[in-house]
Amino acid sequence: MDAGFHRCRRKDKVVVIMGGTGAGKSRLSIDLAHHFSLEIINSDKMQVYRGLDITTNKIPFHERNGVVHHLLGDIDPENGEFTPADFRSRAAAIIADIASRSKVPVVVGGSNSFVHALLAGEFDPEVNVFDAPPSSGSLISSELRYDCCFLWVDVSFSVLSDYLTKRVDDMLDSGMVDELAEFFNPDSDDLEAGSSDRTGLRKAIGVPEFDRYFMKYPPPVRCSDPVRKGAYEEAVRAIKENTCQLVERQIGKISRLREAGWDLRRLDATETFRAALVAGGGGGERWSEIWEREVVEPSVKIVKRRSES
Ligand code: ATP
Repeated sequence: MDAGFHRCRRKDKVVVIMGGTGAGKSRLSIDLAHHFSLEIINSDKMQVYRGLDITTNKIPFHERNGVVHHLLGDIDPENGEFTPADFRSRAAAIIADIASRSKVPVVVGGSNSFVHALLAGEFDPEVNVFDAPPSSGSLISSELRYDCCFLWVDVSFSVLSDYLTKRVDDMLDSGMVDELAEFFNPDSDDLEAGSSDRTGLRKAIGVPEFDRYFMKYPPPVRCSDPVRKGAYEEAVRAIKENTCQLVERQIGKISRLREAGWDLRRLDATETFRAALVAGGGGGERWSEIWEREVVEPSVKIVKRRSES
Protein backbone atom coordinates (compact mmCIF):
# COMPACT_ATOMS: atom_id res chain seq x y z
CA MET A 1 0.00 0.00 0.00
CA ASP A 2 1.13 3.55 -0.65
CA ALA A 3 2.42 4.84 2.67
CA GLY A 4 1.61 8.47 1.78
CA PHE A 5 -2.10 7.81 1.78
CA HIS A 6 -2.78 9.14 5.28
CA ARG A 7 0.18 11.36 5.91
CA CYS A 8 -0.19 14.64 4.11
CA ARG A 9 -3.43 16.10 5.49
CA ARG A 10 -5.17 16.46 8.80
CA LYS A 11 -8.40 14.82 7.65
CA ASP A 12 -8.40 11.05 7.28
CA LYS A 13 -8.60 9.86 3.69
CA VAL A 14 -11.59 7.72 2.85
CA VAL A 15 -12.62 6.01 -0.39
CA VAL A 16 -16.40 5.98 -0.90
CA ILE A 17 -18.00 3.63 -3.45
CA MET A 18 -21.51 4.68 -4.40
CA GLY A 19 -24.13 3.54 -6.91
CA GLY A 20 -27.53 1.94 -7.31
CA THR A 21 -28.29 -1.48 -5.91
CA GLY A 22 -26.74 -4.25 -8.00
CA ALA A 23 -24.33 -1.95 -9.88
CA GLY A 24 -21.20 -3.79 -8.70
CA LYS A 25 -20.03 -1.71 -5.72
CA SER A 26 -19.07 -4.73 -3.61
CA ARG A 27 -17.20 -6.34 -6.49
CA LEU A 28 -15.23 -3.14 -7.10
CA SER A 29 -14.30 -2.88 -3.42
CA ILE A 30 -12.90 -6.43 -3.44
CA ASP A 31 -11.05 -5.74 -6.71
CA LEU A 32 -9.49 -2.61 -5.20
CA ALA A 33 -8.16 -4.76 -2.37
CA HIS A 34 -5.72 -6.26 -4.92
CA HIS A 35 -4.14 -2.80 -5.23
CA PHE A 36 -4.52 -1.21 -1.79
CA SER A 37 -4.42 -2.47 1.76
CA LEU A 38 -8.00 -1.69 2.74
CA GLU A 39 -10.90 -2.53 4.99
CA ILE A 40 -14.55 -2.12 4.06
CA ILE A 41 -17.30 -0.35 5.98
CA ASN A 42 -20.76 -1.34 4.76
CA SER A 43 -23.14 1.59 4.18
CA ASP A 44 -26.25 -0.35 3.11
CA LYS A 45 -28.85 0.32 5.81
CA MET A 46 -30.43 -3.15 5.52
CA GLN A 47 -27.15 -5.09 5.35
CA VAL A 48 -25.99 -3.65 8.69
CA TYR A 49 -28.43 -5.98 10.43
CA ARG A 50 -27.83 -9.63 11.28
CA GLY A 51 -30.07 -11.93 9.23
CA LEU A 52 -31.77 -12.06 5.82
CA ASP A 53 -28.42 -12.46 4.06
CA ILE A 54 -29.98 -13.56 0.75
CA THR A 55 -32.86 -11.08 0.81
CA THR A 56 -30.62 -8.08 1.51
CA ASN A 57 -27.97 -9.42 -0.87
CA LYS A 58 -24.98 -9.35 1.48
CA ILE A 59 -21.73 -10.25 -0.25
CA PRO A 60 -21.22 -13.97 0.57
CA PHE A 61 -18.30 -14.84 2.82
CA HIS A 62 -16.43 -16.78 0.10
CA GLU A 63 -16.50 -13.71 -2.20
CA ARG A 64 -14.91 -11.42 0.40
CA ASN A 65 -11.42 -12.79 -0.36
CA GLY A 66 -10.37 -12.32 3.24
CA VAL A 67 -11.01 -8.56 3.13
CA VAL A 68 -12.27 -7.31 6.52
CA HIS A 69 -15.86 -5.98 6.43
CA HIS A 70 -17.30 -3.79 9.19
CA LEU A 71 -20.98 -3.16 9.99
CA LEU A 72 -22.04 -6.00 7.73
CA GLY A 73 -24.57 -8.05 9.69
CA ASP A 74 -23.18 -6.74 12.99
CA ILE A 75 -26.34 -5.05 14.33
CA ASP A 76 -28.98 -7.00 16.23
CA PRO A 77 -32.33 -6.25 14.52
CA GLU A 78 -34.08 -6.80 17.86
CA ASN A 79 -32.45 -3.63 19.21
CA GLY A 80 -34.56 -1.25 17.12
CA GLU A 81 -33.66 0.95 14.17
CA PHE A 82 -29.99 1.61 13.42
CA THR A 83 -30.23 5.28 12.43
CA PRO A 84 -28.06 7.53 10.26
CA ALA A 85 -26.82 9.14 13.51
CA ASP A 86 -25.82 5.69 14.83
CA PHE A 87 -24.04 5.03 11.56
CA ARG A 88 -22.22 8.38 11.75
CA SER A 89 -20.73 7.62 15.15
CA ARG A 90 -20.06 3.89 14.70
CA ALA A 91 -18.51 4.24 11.25
CA ALA A 92 -16.39 7.25 12.33
CA ALA A 93 -14.84 5.18 15.14
CA ILE A 94 -14.12 2.36 12.68
CA ILE A 95 -12.54 4.78 10.17
CA ALA A 96 -10.28 6.23 12.88
CA ASP A 97 -9.18 2.73 13.85
CA ILE A 98 -8.52 1.61 10.26
CA ALA A 99 -6.56 4.81 9.50
CA SER A 100 -4.51 4.40 12.70
CA ARG A 101 -3.35 1.06 11.30
CA SER A 102 -2.32 2.79 8.02
CA LYS A 103 -4.99 1.01 6.01
CA VAL A 104 -7.45 2.61 3.61
CA PRO A 105 -11.07 2.81 4.87
CA VAL A 106 -13.48 2.11 2.01
CA VAL A 107 -17.17 2.92 2.55
CA VAL A 108 -19.36 0.76 0.30
CA GLY A 109 -23.15 0.72 0.03
CA GLY A 110 -26.25 2.20 -1.53
CA SER A 111 -27.77 4.10 1.40
CA ASN A 112 -27.07 7.70 0.59
CA SER A 113 -28.61 8.97 3.83
CA PHE A 114 -26.01 6.87 5.70
CA VAL A 115 -23.20 8.15 3.48
CA HIS A 116 -24.30 11.77 3.93
CA ALA A 117 -24.67 11.33 7.71
CA LEU A 118 -21.15 9.90 7.96
CA LEU A 119 -19.37 12.42 5.77
CA ALA A 120 -21.20 15.70 6.40
CA GLY A 121 -19.23 18.37 8.25
CA GLU A 122 -22.43 19.44 9.99
CA PHE A 123 -25.07 16.79 10.63
CA ASP A 124 -28.56 17.31 12.05
CA PRO A 125 -30.20 13.96 12.93
CA GLU A 126 -33.63 15.62 12.75
CA VAL A 127 -33.28 16.57 9.09
CA ASN A 128 -33.49 14.21 6.11
CA VAL A 129 -31.54 16.23 3.57
CA PHE A 130 -33.05 14.27 0.67
CA ASP A 131 -36.63 15.03 1.75
CA ALA A 132 -36.33 18.79 1.33
CA PRO A 133 -37.90 20.04 -1.92
CA PRO A 134 -35.22 21.29 -4.34
CA SER A 135 -36.91 24.72 -4.25
CA SER A 136 -35.97 25.16 -0.56
CA GLY A 137 -32.27 25.09 -1.45
CA SER A 138 -29.92 22.21 -0.79
CA LEU A 139 -29.51 21.02 2.79
CA ILE A 140 -26.73 18.70 1.70
CA SER A 141 -23.48 19.48 3.45
CA SER A 142 -20.84 20.55 0.92
CA GLU A 143 -18.19 20.55 3.62
CA LEU A 144 -16.96 17.04 4.43
CA ARG A 145 -15.20 15.83 7.54
CA TYR A 146 -12.96 13.42 5.60
CA ASP A 147 -10.72 13.77 2.59
CA CYS A 148 -12.97 11.74 0.31
CA CYS A 149 -12.29 9.96 -2.95
CA PHE A 150 -15.71 9.17 -4.42
CA LEU A 151 -16.23 6.40 -6.98
CA TRP A 152 -19.71 6.19 -8.49
CA VAL A 153 -20.43 2.91 -10.30
CA ASP A 154 -23.17 3.72 -12.79
CA VAL A 155 -25.14 1.44 -15.12
CA SER A 156 -27.79 2.69 -17.54
CA PHE A 157 -31.18 2.25 -15.90
CA SER A 158 -32.69 -0.01 -18.57
CA VAL A 159 -29.71 -2.40 -18.50
CA LEU A 160 -29.59 -2.44 -14.69
CA SER A 161 -33.35 -3.13 -14.52
CA ASP A 162 -32.93 -6.19 -16.76
CA TYR A 163 -30.07 -7.38 -14.57
CA LEU A 164 -32.02 -6.80 -11.33
CA THR A 165 -35.03 -8.74 -12.62
CA LYS A 166 -32.72 -11.67 -13.24
CA ARG A 167 -30.98 -11.16 -9.91
CA VAL A 168 -34.27 -11.47 -8.03
CA ASP A 169 -34.88 -14.80 -9.81
CA ASP A 170 -31.38 -15.94 -8.76
CA MET A 171 -32.06 -14.87 -5.15
CA LEU A 172 -35.30 -16.88 -5.20
CA ASP A 173 -33.36 -19.91 -6.51
CA SER A 174 -30.86 -19.45 -3.68
CA GLY A 175 -33.49 -19.83 -0.96
CA MET A 176 -34.87 -16.32 -0.42
CA VAL A 177 -38.44 -17.51 0.21
CA ASP A 178 -37.38 -20.05 2.85
CA GLU A 179 -35.32 -17.32 4.52
CA LEU A 180 -38.35 -14.99 4.52
CA ALA A 181 -40.64 -17.78 5.77
CA GLU A 182 -38.33 -18.31 8.75
CA PHE A 183 -38.29 -14.54 9.40
CA PHE A 184 -42.11 -14.30 9.17
CA ASN A 185 -43.75 -13.48 12.48
CA PRO A 186 -47.56 -13.90 12.42
CA ASP A 187 -47.81 -11.85 15.65
CA SER A 188 -46.03 -8.81 14.28
CA ASP A 189 -48.27 -5.71 14.36
CA ASP A 190 -47.00 -4.25 11.07
CA LEU A 191 -47.98 -7.13 8.78
CA GLU A 192 -50.38 -4.98 6.79
CA ALA A 193 -47.94 -2.03 6.59
CA GLY A 194 -45.82 -1.07 3.62
CA SER A 195 -42.07 -0.58 3.89
CA SER A 196 -42.21 3.11 4.94
CA ASP A 197 -44.31 2.33 8.05
CA ARG A 198 -41.97 -0.37 9.31
CA THR A 199 -38.70 -0.25 11.22
CA GLY A 200 -35.26 -1.76 10.79
CA LEU A 201 -34.84 -4.99 8.89
CA ARG A 202 -38.62 -5.35 8.52
CA LYS A 203 -38.37 -2.63 5.82
CA ALA A 204 -36.13 -4.74 3.57
CA ILE A 205 -37.56 -5.29 0.10
CA GLY A 206 -38.97 -8.82 0.18
CA VAL A 207 -40.30 -8.71 3.74
CA PRO A 208 -43.53 -6.68 3.25
CA GLU A 209 -44.16 -8.36 -0.12
CA PHE A 210 -43.89 -11.90 1.31
CA ASP A 211 -45.62 -11.03 4.60
CA ARG A 212 -48.73 -10.47 2.48
CA TYR A 213 -48.25 -13.91 0.93
CA PHE A 214 -47.58 -15.68 4.25
CA MET A 215 -50.63 -14.08 5.87
CA LYS A 216 -52.75 -15.87 3.26
CA TYR A 217 -50.61 -18.98 3.00
CA PRO A 218 -48.61 -19.50 6.21
CA PRO A 219 -45.31 -21.39 5.96
CA PRO A 220 -44.20 -24.04 5.11
CA VAL A 221 -43.82 -22.79 1.57
CA ARG A 222 -45.67 -24.61 -1.21
CA CYS A 223 -46.73 -22.89 -4.39
CA SER A 224 -48.00 -25.77 -6.45
CA ASP A 225 -51.73 -24.99 -6.49
CA PRO A 226 -52.83 -22.32 -9.00
CA VAL A 227 -54.25 -19.83 -6.44
CA ARG A 228 -51.10 -19.86 -4.35
CA LYS A 229 -49.02 -19.59 -7.49
CA GLY A 230 -50.82 -16.35 -8.44
CA ALA A 231 -50.15 -14.80 -5.01
CA TYR A 232 -46.52 -15.96 -5.15
CA GLU A 233 -46.03 -14.44 -8.58
CA GLU A 234 -47.59 -11.19 -7.36
CA ALA A 235 -45.07 -11.03 -4.47
CA VAL A 236 -42.18 -11.65 -6.87
CA ARG A 237 -43.48 -9.03 -9.31
CA ALA A 238 -43.72 -6.47 -6.45
CA ILE A 239 -40.15 -7.23 -5.32
CA LYS A 240 -38.82 -6.67 -8.84
CA GLU A 241 -40.76 -3.43 -9.22
CA ASN A 242 -39.73 -2.11 -5.78
CA THR A 243 -36.08 -2.97 -6.45
CA CYS A 244 -36.14 -0.96 -9.69
CA GLN A 245 -37.83 1.95 -7.90
CA LEU A 246 -35.13 1.81 -5.21
CA VAL A 247 -32.47 2.25 -7.92
CA GLU A 248 -34.29 5.26 -9.36
CA ARG A 249 -34.42 6.90 -5.92
CA GLN A 250 -30.76 6.10 -5.26
CA ILE A 251 -29.67 7.64 -8.56
CA GLY A 252 -31.80 10.73 -7.81
CA LYS A 253 -30.00 11.13 -4.47
CA ILE A 254 -26.59 10.65 -6.06
CA SER A 255 -27.42 13.39 -8.58
CA ARG A 256 -28.34 15.72 -5.73
CA LEU A 257 -25.06 15.03 -3.95
CA ARG A 258 -23.23 15.86 -7.18
CA GLU A 259 -25.21 19.07 -7.61
CA ALA A 260 -24.24 20.01 -4.05
CA GLY A 261 -20.60 19.83 -5.11
CA TRP A 262 -19.56 16.31 -4.09
CA ASP A 263 -16.78 15.31 -6.47
CA LEU A 264 -18.17 11.93 -7.57
CA ARG A 265 -16.10 10.20 -10.27
CA ARG A 266 -18.46 8.25 -12.53
CA LEU A 267 -17.43 4.82 -13.76
CA ASP A 268 -19.71 3.51 -16.48
CA ALA A 269 -20.30 -0.24 -16.02
CA THR A 270 -23.10 -0.46 -18.61
CA GLU A 271 -21.07 -2.41 -21.19
CA THR A 272 -19.98 -4.89 -18.54
CA PHE A 273 -23.58 -5.58 -17.60
CA ARG A 274 -24.65 -5.83 -21.25
CA ALA A 275 -21.95 -8.43 -21.84
CA ALA A 276 -22.93 -10.35 -18.71
CA LEU A 277 -26.58 -10.38 -19.74
CA VAL A 278 -25.90 -11.61 -23.31
CA ALA A 279 -25.60 -15.39 -23.29
CA GLY A 280 -24.74 -15.36 -19.60
CA GLY A 281 -21.55 -13.47 -20.45
CA GLY A 282 -20.28 -16.29 -22.67
CA GLY A 283 -20.47 -14.48 -26.01
CA GLY A 284 -18.12 -11.79 -27.34
CA GLU A 285 -15.62 -10.14 -25.05
CA ARG A 286 -15.85 -11.53 -21.56
CA TRP A 287 -17.64 -9.24 -19.12
CA SER A 288 -14.81 -9.57 -16.60
CA GLU A 289 -12.33 -8.09 -19.11
CA ILE A 290 -14.63 -5.14 -19.81
CA TRP A 291 -15.16 -4.62 -16.08
CA GLU A 292 -11.41 -4.60 -15.46
CA ARG A 293 -10.76 -2.12 -18.29
CA GLU A 294 -13.71 0.24 -17.80
CA VAL A 295 -14.22 0.19 -14.05
CA VAL A 296 -11.34 -1.31 -12.04
CA GLU A 297 -8.36 0.25 -13.85
CA PRO A 298 -9.79 3.80 -13.91
CA SER A 299 -10.79 3.43 -10.25
CA VAL A 300 -7.29 2.38 -9.25
CA LYS A 301 -5.88 5.42 -11.10
CA ILE A 302 -8.34 7.78 -9.41
CA VAL A 303 -7.57 6.43 -5.93
CA LYS A 304 -3.78 6.52 -6.54
CA ARG A 305 -3.95 10.09 -7.81
CA ARG A 306 -5.93 11.14 -4.73
CA SER A 307 -3.57 9.32 -2.41
CA GLU A 308 -0.67 11.31 -3.85
CA SER A 309 -2.35 14.71 -3.59
P1 ATP B 1 -34.40 6.63 2.60
O1 ATP B 1 -34.14 8.05 2.99
O2 ATP B 1 -35.49 6.45 1.59
O3 ATP B 1 -34.48 5.69 3.76
P2 ATP B 1 -31.74 5.84 2.23
O4 ATP B 1 -30.74 6.41 1.29
O5 ATP B 1 -31.63 6.08 3.66
O6 ATP B 1 -33.15 6.24 1.74
P3 ATP B 1 -31.87 3.33 0.91
O7 ATP B 1 -30.66 2.50 0.96
O8 ATP B 1 -32.23 4.06 -0.33
O9 ATP B 1 -31.78 4.29 2.12
O10 ATP B 1 -33.04 2.37 1.35
C1 ATP B 1 -34.35 2.75 1.27
C2 ATP B 1 -35.21 1.51 1.39
O11 ATP B 1 -34.88 0.61 0.33
C3 ATP B 1 -35.03 0.69 2.64
O12 ATP B 1 -35.77 1.17 3.69
C4 ATP B 1 -35.48 -0.69 2.16
O13 ATP B 1 -36.89 -0.74 2.07
C5 ATP B 1 -34.93 -0.75 0.78
N1 ATP B 1 -33.58 -1.33 0.74
C6 ATP B 1 -32.41 -0.68 0.71
N2 ATP B 1 -31.38 -1.52 0.70
C7 ATP B 1 -31.90 -2.76 0.73
C8 ATP B 1 -31.34 -4.07 0.75
N3 ATP B 1 -30.03 -4.29 0.75
N4 ATP B 1 -32.18 -5.10 0.78
C9 ATP B 1 -33.51 -4.92 0.78
N5 ATP B 1 -34.10 -3.72 0.77
C10 ATP B 1 -33.31 -2.65 0.74
